[in-house]
Amino acid sequence: MPSPHIDKSASILTDDVGCARQLNAGNVCVLDTGDDRGRGVFAVRDFVPGEVVIIGLLDRLETSRTTNSIQLNWDVHALFEAPAVIVNHSCDPNLAIVPNRFGAYDFISIRAIYSDAEVTWDYATAEFECIGISNCGCFAANCRGVVGGFSKLPPDHRMLMSRFCAPYLRQT
Ligand SMILES: [Zn+2]
Repeated sequence: MPSPHIDKSASILTDDVGCARQLNAGNVCVLDTGDDRGRGVFAVRDFVPGEVVIIGLLDRLETSRTTNSIQLNWDVHALFEAPAVIVNHSCDPNLAIVPNRFGAYDFISIRAIYSDAEVTWDYATAEFECIGISNCGCFAANCRGVVGGFSKLPPDHRMLMSRFCAPYLRQT
């Protein structure tokens, strides 16, 4: 029996990316938030804590911070593909970031999320300095008002205590 030909050059990775995009499309959708934050990302099904809600995929790397970039390392910033790039900040988020196999971050549920709820993450868990938001409009009871990035978080902040932050920041 001849062994089946496996063309390793033909992008197992592309299929992997395709699967990730499909998973994202089955989990969330992009809608207008109805307030001055513009678009946001919303759950299209229920999630229990600990589920991967969005698989982050890199669009392109940037050498400097932009208002839409997400920080991966001290001098490494990236634009993520939608929907990840569209997810709004909250000071009381329902998603946390964890590094993934694409060199980006996955966004996992840290509490129960019900269908139609907006999903959010705390930008300060990746950005050492945050320039994307000058004044936070997240409406959370613990809203920090100004989202200054990781460098401005109090050391006892729960996102730091839980270690849900970019790995490069864990060495600070
Ligand atoms: Zn806030």
